[in-house]
Amino acid sequence: MFCCFLCDEQRQLVSNRRVDGLCNRCAGTVSDVRVQYIFRFCFFPVCRSHTSRIICSRCGAHYKSR
Ligand SMILES: [Zn+2]
Repeated sequence: MFCCFLCDEQRQLVSNRRVDGLCNRCAGTVSDVRVQYIFRFCFFPVCRSHTSRIICSRCGAHYKSR
């Protein structure tokens, strides 16, 4: 459990752009959101990862990026 004190995760929004297509649930506009995750251990960044997700701006539904 002590790991929780030493490890830290930081999320950083890299880009947010609107893409073509509508949400299947509410027919709202969807955006391609890129987020960078930075994992830190004892305040040193050890790992970085990027994820890209298609997210509905109205209801927040997540879709797999194309
Ligand atoms: Zn939606």
